[in-house]
Amino acid sequence: MTATLTAREKSIQEVPDPRDSPRRACRDHPDPEIFDPISPAEYARAVEVCAGCPLADSCGQWAFRHREWGVWGGRLFEAGQPVPAKRGLSGLRKPAA
Ligand code: SF4
Repeated sequence: MTATLTAREKSIQEVPDPRDSPRRACRDHPDPEIFDPISPAEYARAVEVCAGCPLADSCGQWAFRHREWGVWGGRLFEAGQPVPAKRGLSGLRKPAA
C-alpha cells in the first residue's frame, strides 16, 4: 500500500534540514546553547552567527515548517512561529529532547 503525502508533508520535504549542511555557520559552534537562548546576550550572539550563514533563508523556512523552537535563520521561533525576542526569552532553557 502506498501512503499519500499531505500538502504539509510535501512542503516539509522541499526544504533540506540545515543541520545536515557542512556550510552552516553554527556547525561546531563552541556554545550551541545560544541557539536556545535564555538571555538577550545569548540571543544576540546567535543572531550574529546566523547573519554570516549562507543557509539563513532556508533555515528559517525549515523552522517554520517543522514547528521548531529557538533561533533559526537569525530569528527566534516558538513552535514554528517567529516571535519577538522580548516575548520568546523566558529565562528558562528547555529540557533536552
Ligand atoms: S541560519 Fe543560523 S541556525 Fe540556521 S544553519 Fe545557519 S547558523 Fe545555523
